[in-house]
Amino acid sequence: MSAAVDEYGVFGHPVAHSFSPFIHGFFARATGQQMSYRAYDVAPEEFSARVKDFFGGGGRGLNITLPHKIAAVETAQELTARAAHAAAVNTLALQDDNVVLGDNTDGAGLVRDLCDNLRIVITQRRLLVLGAGGATRGVLAPILALEPAIVVIANRTPERAEALAAAFADLGVTQGVGFAHVGDTPFDLIINATSASLSGDIPPIPAGALGPETVCYDLAYGRSAMAFVRWAKHSGCRRAVQGLGMLVEQAAESFRLWRGVRPETAPVIAALKERVGSV
Ligand code: NAP
Repeated sequence: MSAAVDEYGVFGHPVAHSFSPFIHGFFARATGQQMSYRAYDVAPEEFSARVKDFFGGGGRGLNITLPHKIAAVETAQELTARAAHAAAVNTLALQDDNVVLGDNTDGAGLVRDLCDNLRIVITQRRLLVLGAGGATRGVLAPILALEPAIVVIANRTPERAEALAAAFADLGVTQGVGFAHVGDTPFDLIINATSASLSGDIPPIPAGALGPETVCYDLAYGRSAMAFVRWAKHSGCRRAVQGLGMLVEQAAESFRLWRGVRPETAPVIAALKERVGSV
């Protein structure tokens, strides 16, 4: 008789495109964990009830993706400090005391990919983050913890960038601006955290913001990252990278929270690159 298997999954809408079942299936096999992982398409109006049903029915953990990351803050019974600061949750975990903990592993995933996989230095460097949505909110605290010289946040709606810069000013030097006011001095690292690439758009930043030493990183991956990565390469940056590594690293952080073991990420990143192709 086979032992019961712990159930995990991802709630999103839409979710059919999600790589999370592939990633967590890979992690589970590699670490010998007895668990299942499924994608669930959950409409916003059903979100809270479906989370309760999942954990009430014996589920152990969930990843939360668009558009539910903010709603999940209310659904969690307890928050980690980084989830509270981000005001967004991408991981729910049933703890031993039956309390559902909300965490946000996006920022840790990005920092792992930038620092460990890509060997990019953040400390004392000038960073430009494009976009002021949920993803930017999730990554700011872990990035500021590495003590960059400055993080300029630029957004189509400048007020949202200004508000985020103010909200994180206690953690480091931040500035919020519209795209036109980014300035003409090249940044060391430009992180695209907008969803502009999805429609093939490039945030209209001044040409001087990108120089021959600039590294460009798009949080999006696969086809969605193509417009920004190609634009950055054609503009003469040192290196332009899609966000597949962040995707796998944030998943590894969730897996560690659930199972107490951190899986190796390099084989999964390589497998996913094969699947989506380089951009
Ligand atoms: P979001 O909360 O909806 O925010 C979207 C942001 O993009 C806003 O700042 C918005 O500006 C801006 N924007 C949208 N269309 C634009 C356009 N045409 N031109 C300029 N700016 C535009 O989305 P999010 O959750 O932050 O996600 C952003 C991106 O990060 C998505 O591509 C997502 O897939 C990716 N992501 C990747 C990972 C990973 O693991 N690799 C994790 C999280 C997110 P306004 O404020 O002016 O509307």
